[in-house]
Amino acid sequence: MALRFYNTLSQQVEDFTPARDNTVRMYTCGPTVYDFAHIGNFRTFTFIDLLRKCLRLNGFQLRHVMNITDVDDKIIRNAVARHTPLAEYTTVYTDAFLEDCRVLRLERPEILARATDHIQEMALAIAKLSESGHTYTSEGSVYFKIASFPGYGKLSHNDFSGNIAGARVDVDSYEKADARDFALWKAPKDAEPFWDTALGPGRPGWHIECSVMAIQYLGETLDIHAGGVDLVFPHHENEIAQSESLTGQPFARFWLHAEFLMVEGQKMSKSLGNYYTLRDIIGKGYAPEAIRYLLASVPYRKQLNFTFDGLKAAAIAIDRLRNFKLRLETDRFPEGVNEAGNARLAEAGQAFRDSLNDDLNTAEALAAVFEYIRDANSAMDAGLFLAGNAAAALQFLAEFDCVFDVLKPSVKEGELSDAEVEARIAERTAAKKARNFALADQIRDQLLAQGIILEDTKSGIRWKRK
Ligand code: AMP
Ligand code: ZN
Repeated sequence: MALRFYNTLSQQVEDFTPARDNTVRMYTCGPTVYDFAHIGNFRTFTFIDLLRKCLRLNGFQLRHVMNITDVDDKIIRNAVARHTPLAEYTTVYTDAFLEDCRVLRLERPEILARATDHIQEMALAIAKLSESGHTYTSEGSVYFKIASFPGYGKLSHNDFSGNIAGARVDVDSYEKADARDFALWKAPKDAEPFWDTALGPGRPGWHIECSVMAIQYLGETLDIHAGGVDLVFPHHENEIAQSESLTGQPFARFWLHAEFLMVEGQKMSKSLGNYYTLRDIIGKGYAPEAIRYLLASVPYRKQLNFTFDGLKAAAIAIDRLRNFKLRLETDRFPEGVNEAGNARLAEAGQAFRDSLNDDLNTAEALAAVFEYIRDANSAMDAGLFLAGNAAAALQFLAEFDCVFDVLKPSVKEGELSDAEVEARIAERTAAKKARNFALADQIRDQLLAQGIILEDTKSGIRWKRK
């Protein structure tokens, strides 16, 4: 099945290929670094990571830009309240975000672009919008005149005709599906930081950074633009208005939006106080892989309800996957190849890929994997799974893990790495050979104390983490 995505712009599922060569030019809205990100934010970033991996599974190359919003109303409010320079304040949370991404195994985009590194480019873009009659100025601030852009509303499918009254809005984020002229550039205020630019002193509004950085790094028309569903309006609508007014070209061919992570029927959010950071959850003893699995397991266009039971179920699912892999690696199967078994595997592989290509249906992709594991385990128990079937099954698990990336246990601080465990096991094997059973038992006990379980099997030692 060809790769296809639901496009918010057309409200249709459409076949996807990049417009030029084999490279997908993609822009995704990154974090606002005013605090630690919560796992609701990471649902969206995990979706982006899955998207990258599926695009690659389809043989495409990636040129992906993600912005770091390091200047906005909330950041300025917090930095000023703490008497901390803006850059110092945002560096702490940018670093924390990148570290959380590493822990959750989210790949770094090819280009990470900080808003404050692009202020002059933003000022030039705003000047250009002014030259072409898309703005007006009031008390040193520059506003985008949405009446000057006839397509306003085409992404959020709001019909604003008759509703474009020229009312203005100064805040970066606003909820109402109401057409407002938004701030491109804000005049300096009180103790707020500002930059000297071709427009005079001030700072950018939130929306302009994404238009400017996307066009600078990716060109006038992107293949994919993505983010959380709360960004459709006003942020992405405003990005389209700015970008298309600048270039006269369609800004993005595909718009993909991830639904919310919910808590008891409400969106997880800072303002509602119903959130957990990644650090909160790892602090409760849950593995990062379980969080990643949970966030990935529900297709991105469905809301996902966060519960600790869900997290426990994710950890159990990962155990099943790892146990199956261990069995493939260490069981001694009868010689030969079972052709029916290989056919069953090929069918599972096809279902896995087709499900992902069907607008990233991760739930069905996982079902294909678990149904195969169930069948393969039964075949193993019945002696029908043969030695010649193991390599292809391991290959399938590797393909699964190229996307889901949960098989390798995270090493916690102070914990032994895989290589260290293997080295201890080799020492134990040598001790046994030398008939030094006391030392062999001692090594086993030490490993057990560190959460490493050894099993002596006919085909050798196998080990796993508790
Ligand atoms: P922010 O740092 O507030 O700019 O948000 C970063 C990303 O997280 C954006 O793409 C938001 O749409 C997304 N986001 C915020 N809350 C949630 C949530 N509860 N579930 C999923 N995504 C979210
Ligand atoms: Zn954006």
